[in-house]
This record gives sequence, structure tokens and C-alpha cells, in this order.
Amino acid sequence: MPNEQYLQHEKYPDIFKPLDLGFTTLKNRILMGSMHTGMEEASDGFEKMATYFGRRAQGGVGLIVTGGFSPNIEGCGADNLAKLTTKEEMEKHKIITSEVHRNKGKIAMQILHTGRYGFHDKIVSASAVQAPINFFTPRELTSDEVEKQIDDFANCASLAKEAGYDGVEIMGSEGYFINQFIAKATNHRTDKWGGSFENRTRLPVEIIKRVRDRTGEDFIIIYRLSMIDLVKDGSTWDEVIELALKAEAAGVTIINTGIGWHEARVPTIAGMVPRAAFTWVTSKLMGKVNVPLITSNRINTPEVAQQIVASGQADMISMARPFLADPDFVKKAMENRSDEINTCIGCNQACLDHIFEGKSCSCLVNPLACRETEFDLSAASTPKRIAVVGAGPAGLSFSVYAAQKGHDITLFDAASDIGGLLNLAVKIPGKEEFHETLRYFRRELELLRVKVVLNKKVTVSDLILCRDAFPTGSSSSTDTSGKTDSSAFDEIVIATGVMPRVPELQGVDNPKVISYVDAINNCHKIGRSVAVVGAGGIGFDVATLLTHEGESSSLDTDLYLKEWGIDDKYLNPGGLLAGDEGNLSKNNQIKSSDRTVYLMQRKATKVGATLGKTTGWIHRALLKKRGVIMLNDVNYEKIDEKGLHIVRDGKKEVLNVDNIIICAGQESLLTLVHDLQSSHLFTDNVDANGKKIRYHIIGGAYKAGELDAKKAIEQGVRLACDL
Ligand code: NAP
Ligand code: SF4
Repeated sequence: MPNEQYLQHEKYPDIFKPLDLGFTTLKNRILMGSMHTGMEEASDGFEKMATYFGRRAQGGVGLIVTGGFSPNIEGCGADNLAKLTTKEEMEKHKIITSEVHRNKGKIAMQILHTGRYGFHDKIVSASAVQAPINFFTPRELTSDEVEKQIDDFANCASLAKEAGYDGVEIMGSEGYFINQFIAKATNHRTDKWGGSFENRTRLPVEIIKRVRDRTGEDFIIIYRLSMIDLVKDGSTWDEVIELALKAEAAGVTIINTGIGWHEARVPTIAGMVPRAAFTWVTSKLMGKVNVPLITSNRINTPEVAQQIVASGQADMISMARPFLADPDFVKKAMENRSDEINTCIGCNQACLDHIFEGKSCSCLVNPLACRETEFDLSAASTPKRIAVVGAGPAGLSFSVYAAQKGHDITLFDAASDIGGLLNLAVKIPGKEEFHETLRYFRRELELLRVKVVLNKKVTVSDLILCRDAFPTGSSSSTDTSGKTDSSAFDEIVIATGVMPRVPELQGVDNPKVISYVDAINNCHKIGRSVAVVGAGGIGFDVATLLTHEGESSSLDTDLYLKEWGIDDKYLNPGGLLAGDEGNLSKNNQIKSSDRTVYLMQRKATKVGATLGKTTGWIHRALLKKRGVIMLNDVNYEKIDEKGLHIVRDGKKEVLNVDNIIICAGQESLLTLVHDLQSSHLFTDNVDANGKKIRYHIIGGAYKAGELDAKKAIEQGVRLACDL
């Protein structure tokens, strides 16, 4: 029976309309998409997953899909990655399904066979064709062995049903095993599993049929269909429609959208991809089949989701990372509190990058994600008055979580607004989503009644004063704590951040030399030829900004599709514009910049090697296409009126540029810390017994090297847990 509350939703009526699947009803149109988190393999991973998924079910999502579980050893993504093949393995899942059901949610398990993408020596595929992103070559399966793979899928689905799952998702996209049979490029077989389209799609059709046979009619089967492969010799649009019809006839309940193979050289989920940039693909399939269609990729707000469903572009919305960022995404939207949603910014820094680096998955904007059991944010036994100096990511994070615990927080910043370096990040094309992080923190400060004092350069004597001595500096600062006594702060948190490092280089005080802060804030004043000293995250950001013209393609889907060579008419197999393999070749339209930009580092390693694993290649590819000259192994000699003098490969060279922008890393801003250290009233000693005011240092002020928003926000939460 559909819930009246959802039916009557004023703001998002279409996403809160229940979805009737015949034998069961989903309470809304939001699917938490599959995402590997690393908990699947952790020793206490099933307990953690039960808490993690249970928390998302509590948040009201319509249907959850787990990370992928392989149906056999050869299908595992790496040695020891999760599989579901036996009753013993099945038993462990019951804790997940019961916790989700206890929270009135529904959950499907994803069956993922990675085929030639697996990183181990037992991998199998349609043909022995090595993936460009793998150093292992798969073994070609015999005809009988293909039959065994299909049975393994059916067995896995049957075990999932026994474990209490409401359904399974069969992963048929992203270039994995099933996709490898469908595409000509990876299927060179001449038996009944290769050759014609009929033969190449026999595998997914047989898998769906046998899964349906084994699981019965009252079980959700989602098929994740690669709707646009974004690789050479991928499926044609007609083949996509035909496969969808075959999947429907074979017994699927819902078809989900897969976008791009992992080896595709087109960004499909990074923050620089516009919101809902691929919904047009799902939309093309609407009306061609009768089963509901789910769309996905870079949908991160209820407003966008509502617009998609309302306009008939899809029946349902899949979001994966947004549920790492905020487990209460659906609940907040339902309660018309979407301004309180902690929005996924598509950075990949704590989720996918962590997975590819073998670290546990979490979220930059929500460090609690996947570690729900690790952090104790229960109410503080003794609420304290805490002064936080610095409203960058670390100070903001601490303030919000400490205020949640009941502490009375006064947050100071010398600037006229909160955000610190986030205010620079939002100016970089492709990083506009950081506006959402600022909006989120601003709203939380308001809700938690944190007293915000802006335009205030805090001194030691300020910290000795009582909190009531400061007039409020923003609308979020209404103090309703009710405290009337005027004692000083109990604890101080120093989150003063960093200042740009000035390298010891002759002529660094030349007027041509500009810090990255000035360059980003006053981009229009920068000359037509530029040398960027330092090729870390900020050097790349500056080079991106300086070579960019016009509208940011992150905000314009047509422009983005054009830039990355995606064929929105879908006239070519794989959905790429006529040319060759994809965006790095001739078919993309990223324009070369009129500005000459050198991006340099002293290290001999590849320029950009320190960038994120899943996004670094995008930044490198973009700057290369724009004509940025990336130089490694550079020795800087001096700067003078002629420009920047460097030595490379033993040869001296003068880069005759208008400006030299210093992006040479950061140093901690510790003036206030030094002043506190000189005062007998403060201490950082844990055993101070309350005789002195204790201070803590977090974020860039604590450690400038390798600092980024991810570490800063996490440090803020960790300290809040401790106080
Ligand atoms: P960074 O990543 O540490 O890079 C600093 C750069 O300056 C390096 O290329 C370094 O290379 C160079 N350098 C260091 N000392 C120098 C010196 N004395 N003289 C000349 N060059 C010097 O720092 P960042 O670019 O300021 O970024 C700060 C943090 O923010 C980093 O952790 C970064 O990951 C993060 N961030 C990330 C992104 C992202 O997209 N993921 C974007 C922005 C910032 P050599 O030593 O080889 O010359
Ligand atoms: Fe989204 Fe970044 Fe969090 Fe990943 S780490 S879920 S991309 S905000």
C-alpha cells in the first residue's frame, strides 16, 4: 500500500511516488547504487556493512544495492576479494539483510564478475584479450566453461535470496565480464557465444533466465546494462535497445544504466562532469521497454532527481556516492530540508581513490562514512566553551561536530566569510561543487547555533576574554545557549591553516611573481605567458584556471559532451564521435589555450603523479589538450626581468614569461600558536589538570604538507570525538 505521505510530497512529488513492481513496491524512486567499499573483505566487514546499510535504510532510500560479490573465484576483482559461492559465505550476509529490513528498507546484492579486469592470474573472458588497464591477460573460456559461469551466477543469486536479499543486480556494464562477451572488441569467439549479436548477447540472456529460474517470480532482478560503452567498437544504439528487449523478455524487473567502460578515456563521474550529464542516454531508452529504467551518474541533489523523473527521462534515480556523503539524503529531501544535505562533490578523493590505493573507503565531506562504528559523537558529559580559530575545512568540521555533541562553540576567522581555501577551490572550473560544501557548513553552523565571529584576527588576549565579549559576525551566530556566566573559554582549537610557501629563489620578490592566492583571486590580471612553479594539486588548479575560457563545461552538458568527444546523436558504436579511440585522440574538441603556460616541478617523476588515482589522468589530459607545457626535473636558477631562468637536462633556458606563479606548497600558519606557547595561561599538555587553558592544533596549522580538505575535515571530526 503506497504511503500517502510520499504521494503528497509538495516539492519532489515524482521521486517520492512509490514504484510498483507487481510483487513488491519500492517506497520511492531513489536507489542507492552499488559501490565497493572494502568492507566486503574486512575481518569485521559484515558487521560494519550491516551498520552502514542499516543507517542508509533508516535514511529512507527506496532500494539499496550492495558492492559487488563475485559468483566464483575467477570473477573476483583481485585475490581474496569478496565472493558469494557457498552456504557458509551466505550466512554472513544475513546480518546485513536483517538490519536493513529492521530499518524498513530493501536491499539487493550486486553480482559482479570482473572478467579481464581482475588483478590476478585466474582471470577469464570471452577471448584472451588483455585490458589496457590491466597487466594480466585473461584465459579464453571453453564453451562448457561458459555454461559453468552462468550456473555460478544463478547459484550466487539463489544464495543471495537465501541470505534474505530482496533481489540482485547483475552487473552487465562498465566493461566487466558480461560486457566483454557483448562487445566485438573483446569477443573474438566463433562458437555460439561469439560472432553475431545474437551469439554475443547469449551470455547475459542465459544468466538472467537462469537467475530467474532459481530465484522465482517474487525476486527483484536488476540488470545493469551498458547503455554507452565510450570505447572503440562498443555497442551501437540499436544493439543497446535490442539487448534491453532481450533482458526484459528473459525476466529482469528493472534495467539500470551503465555508462562507459573502466578503460574509457572519458570522465564519467568526476566532479568536472556536469550533473546528470548522461541522463539523455537512459532517456533514449524510455518507452522502448516496459520495465522501469534507472538513470545514473553525477546526480547529487533531490532537485535534479525530481526534474529527471518528472520530465520522464527515467523512472528511478541511482546515486551511490551521495549516500556516502549523507545517509539521510532521502529523509532530508522528504522533510523539505534539502539545504541540510551534505552533498557529494564528485572528488573521488576518499572513496574511489582510497579503494584503488587499497585503503578503506570513506568520504571527503563525511569522514564517518563506512566507519560508522569508529566515531563516538555521543553527547559530551561536560559541555565546554570552545574557541575555534579559523573557519576553513578543519575549523568548520570541528565546530559542527563538537556543537552536535553539545559544546558551546565560538568560531573565529580573520576573513569576512567562512570557508578558508574552499573559497579558492570554488573558482576553479570543474570544482564548483565545493559551493555545496560551503552551503552545508553554513547551514549546520546556523542550525547548531555556533557563534561565528568574522573579520577578527584573534590574539592571545582575545582568548582570555569570555565568549560573550565578541559581537556576532554572521546571521548564523545567534547565541541561544542560555549561558550567562562570563568565564573564559575552556579549550582552544587552532585551525589557522596555511600560508603559501615562498621558495628561496633569487628574484622571487620580482613584481612578475605572484602567489597562487592572488592568481586565483585576480585571474584577469595575469599575462598571456605564465610559468607555474610547482605542479601539485594547486599548480594544476591554477593551470586549469589560466587556460580556461568561457563557461565551465562542468556546468554545461552540451559543451562537456563536445569537449570529450561524446556523440549525443549516438551515430557511432560506443557513442564516441567519429575519430578513433576516444577523448585523447582526434575526436574531442578541447581547445588549445591562447595563453602559454609552463607547469613545472623539480622531481623527475611524471608531472601530475601526485594527483588522485581516479582523477589525475583527467587533469593531465585536459591540460595537455590545452597546450600546457609540463616540465619535470627542472632546476630553478633565478627570476629577473627576462623571466624565469631554469636548467633542464644540463641546459640553461630562460622562460620569457609575463608572470611566475608560485604554487610551491604550504607552510603552517602558526603565529597564534607561538603566542600561546609564550603565554603561561595556555598549554597543549593533556595532563594540565585544568590549571591552564588547553589548546589543540588541527588542519594545515598542524601539518601543512600534503594537507587537503579530506584530511582537514577528518581531523576536525576526530578532535570533536575526543573532547
Ligand atoms: P603539493 O601537492 O605538495 O605540491 C607542491 C608543489 O610544489 C610540488 O609540485 C613540489 O614539487 C613543489 N615545491 C615544493 N617545494 C618547493 C620549493 N621550495 N620550490 C619550488 N617548488 C617546490 O601542494 P599544493 O599543490 O599546494 O597542494 C596542497 C594540498 O592540497 C595537496 O595535498 C594537494 O593534494 C591538495 N590539493 C588537491 C587537489 C586535487 O585536485 N586533488 C587540488 C588542490 C590541492 P617539486 O618539489 O618536485 O618541485
Ligand atoms: Fe563524493 Fe568525494 Fe565523498 Fe567520494 S569522497 S563520496 S566523491 S564527496
